[in-house]
Amino acid sequence: MGLFSGFEKLGLGNLSGADLYGKEEKVKEKAAAATKEKVEIQETDCIYEKKYKCPVCDSDFSAKIMKSGRTKLIGTDFDLRPKYDGIAAEKYDVLLCDRCGYAALGRYFTTLLPAQCKMIKEQITANIELNKYNDEIYTFKEALERYQIALACAIVKKAKASEKAYICLKTAWVLRALRESVEAGKDKYPEGMSAEDVTAQEEEYLRNAYTGFIEARQSESFPMAGMDQTTVDYLLAQLAFHLKEFDVAAKMVQALLTSPGANSRIKDKARDLKDEIVAAKKAAGT
Ligand SMILES: [Zn+2]
Repeated sequence: MGLFSGFEKLGLGNLSGADLYGKEEKVKEKAAAATKEKVEIQETDCIYEKKYKCPVCDSDFSAKIMKSGRTKLIGTDFDLRPKYDGIAAEKYDVLLCDRCGYAALGRYFTTLLPAQCKMIKEQITANIELNKYNDEIYTFKEALERYQIALACAIVKKAKASEKAYICLKTAWVLRALRESVEAGKDKYPEGMSAEDVTAQEEEYLRNAYTGFIEARQSESFPMAGMDQTTVDYLLAQLAFHLKEFDVAAKMVQALLTSPGANSRIKDKARDLKDEIVAAKKAAGT
């Protein structure tokens, strides 16, 4: 018991470490830290459970979904990954039916032909052993598993290259979000995963996304994965640059700069990337 023992009950516990006649700064610091803690956005506040009907087995199931109104965009990565305050949004993009094991990215979930339903039943439902998770949020482990199932389903249902490429791109984003979360001291790597594994996997998924979108660009029409041609070309230019495919990156940038459909904002970004490519090529001595 001490001088300030009643503070706690009054909600003034952060003053209880104060020196009655000094250490003013320390009190202020503690109060500031407490306020900061209060305003930090929690992942659980950014999501909700939504009900869906499975197009394969007709069951009702629910999935955790991001509340669009509650989240604040704080930036965009080179490969167009949007970053939000308090939540790794990409963890919530896969819908998974826990009855039959069918999974897909939200935008593709319901567009399924009868023949594709049959393939899912025969090759996924018949074999899959789903793990049960009971966390309030999708942990990185669970999110990565949902992406794995979505990729397996995309292969089984013979999805278009763009759909598979988009799953790969978003899987890379989840891996990056995991890495950032660990680096920020908010998470640790799931058992059996090291920082090196995660980085290597992220690169592998980015490469597969790149290959898939290159193929899609030659064989599919726009929009693909919700992106118009300009956006896909810019994404490809960035991915090519990241993967040190400088000639492809330069070609895509040139296509953007001469495209009548590209707006001035994306042309400015393409010009910046062009400078980076020139500098990187010079540094590589080619
Ligand atoms: Zn189902």
